[in-house]
Amino acid sequence: MKIAIVGAGITGLSTAWALTRRGHDVTLIEQGPIPNPLAASGDHHRIIRRAYGNATGYGRMITEAYEAWDELWSDIGQNHLDPRGFLCVSREPGDDAEDHRDGLEQGGYPIEIVDPKGAARRWPFLDPQTFRYAFVSPEGGALHCRRIATDTAAWLRRRGATVLENAKVVAIDADRSRVDLADGRRIEADRVVVAMGAWVPKLFPDLKRQLTTYRTAVVYLEPPPDLTGAWEKAPVILDVGGRTDGYIIPPTGGAGLKFGTGLHKVPTHDADANREPVPGEGEAIRDRFEPPIARIGAYRVLDVVTCAYTFTADETFFAHETGACLVVSACSGHGYKFGAAVGRRAADAVESGDVDVLKRWLRAEIAAQ
Ligand SMILES: Cc1cc2nc3c(=O)[nH]c(=O)nc-3n(C[C@H](O)[C@H](O)[C@H](O)COP(=O)(O)OP(=O)(O)OC[C@H]3O[C@@H](n4cnc5c(N)ncnc54)[C@H](O)[C@@H]3O)c2cc1C
Repeated sequence: MKIAIVGAGITGLSTAWALTRRGHDVTLIEQGPIPNPLAASGDHHRIIRRAYGNATGYGRMITEAYEAWDELWSDIGQNHLDPRGFLCVSREPGDDAEDHRDGLEQGGYPIEIVDPKGAARRWPFLDPQTFRYAFVSPEGGALHCRRIATDTAAWLRRRGATVLENAKVVAIDADRSRVDLADGRRIEADRVVVAMGAWVPKLFPDLKRQLTTYRTAVVYLEPPPDLTGAWEKAPVILDVGGRTDGYIIPPTGGAGLKFGTGLHKVPTHDADANREPVPGEGEAIRDRFEPPIARIGAYRVLDVVTCAYTFTADETFFAHETGACLVVSACSGHGYKFGAAVGRRAADAVESGDVDVLKRWLRAEIAAQ
């Protein structure tokens, strides 16, 4: 089959990879460079972990996610996962960290619970006065997104796929399976896969009813010199407890120490709007992390990276079929870790035409059964 894929974030790249290795004729079209720093997949790293609360099938889907990443590593000849494990800090009964702990314990996945003093000895950037307990899991870590994008695009080219960069799609004719580029080129295919992330509503405005776009930002920080070594060895911090909805990725794979919080996201009408950080934005994100991080004011802001992403109402992933066109989005702020698995599942749907199975899998309904 001849397949045009619009968008080379992790969804588009992985779908292109899965379809190319099955012998299809793939054209991947990206409006910017690959990786595109403005894409949700374009930052240095994203977290992979099994912790998912106790009422969701996504935790169980992580086994498939790991298998799919292993298949990708084997093809591209590089493993881009830093398996440093993850840490959660609980500050209040019933906070997100505790929800993650419940889910892991119910699934029978091993964790180690550490009291505050013991935690502060192992991870001296934590203030032991400010939390109830920490727990650590050996499974999980950081995926190096930019390296994944570069190596997957190179693999696609070696395998004969057409990979177009700086090629913006301005119109998609879903019934005729046709894609028009800003430079006047037209690409005809048997199927079109739309993997445009937060830009989907621009070409499919009807989907605004199901996908809400948000703008957010993350901050890269330089820790005080006496804590540099501790951060370099630290696990990923999946949740800092309380209501902060905050996570931290330690320096890994050449990228710096990154802090992000769900509290910083705001609805936006346009994925391209307000992409310049505003003065003081990095400090505002940073300062949400004390507690439980000690001496937060001593961390220097190095960089602020803005991001756009979409959410469904129940924070699941999304697929939609119209004509010969399949829209796929591992959205809602937690889809990167499933990237390679999403690509394989989207390829299954393109080959079989069974989009219903894909939708159910994306909503974690199959894993939850
Ligand atoms: C701050 C933040 C933190 C996150 N943390 C995690 C995490 O720790 N773990 C996790 O699993 N997930 C995380 N996520 C979610 C994850 O990043 C996304 O779910 C995932 O990257 C989405 O990938 P995508 O390919 O669907 O979209 P994107 O990566 O946004 O890719 C869409 C691509 O389409 C291209 N495109 C758009 N319009 C056009 C057009 N007209 N023509 C051509 N190309 C076009 C864009 O340039 C872009 O490259 C996080 C998201 C954010 C924003």
